[in-house]
Amino acid sequence: MIKQFDESSYTWDGVDTLVYKQDGSPFKDVTRQVLFNGAKDIPCQFRYFEVKPGGYSTLERHDHTHMVMIFRGHGQVLLDDKVTDIKVGDFIEIPSRMVHQFRANKGDYVGFLCLVNLDRDKVQVLQPDEIEAMKAKNDVVKAFLESC
Ligand code: MN
Repeated sequence: MIKQFDESSYTWDGVDTLVYKQDGSPFKDVTRQVLFNGAKDIPCQFRYFEVKPGGYSTLERHDHTHMVMIFRGHGQVLLDDKVTDIKVGDFIEIPSRMVHQFRANKGDYVGFLCLVNLDRDKVQVLQPDEIEAMKAKNDVVKAFLESC
């Protein structure tokens, strides 16, 4: 089965563009497309998330692992106590419990493909005291978290 890609809109044939999250967690200008929603022998979901310029994903952690590949544009990712520039083709493994956030903070989109297990725990949003503890890790993380 082929879902053809439209490179002008970064959408796939027959795939709905959804709100990133509907659980009330904080984010800005992120959409979600579910390309694959599991099969018996591949119990995984394969999604495409897209952050508009100036937007960001939720600052979060959870027990489940992410496998991510950047598919559009460039920006930055926060992984624990490191901020790294990201661009198309970069592959990112986000282990269980690692705090993460994607930001389209370079005047471009950040689109990424993301693989997760179908059976996974709920996302935990960082609480204000945890965000303060993150800022205390180093100046780069502090500047990143205070930049929006
Ligand atoms: Mn996550």
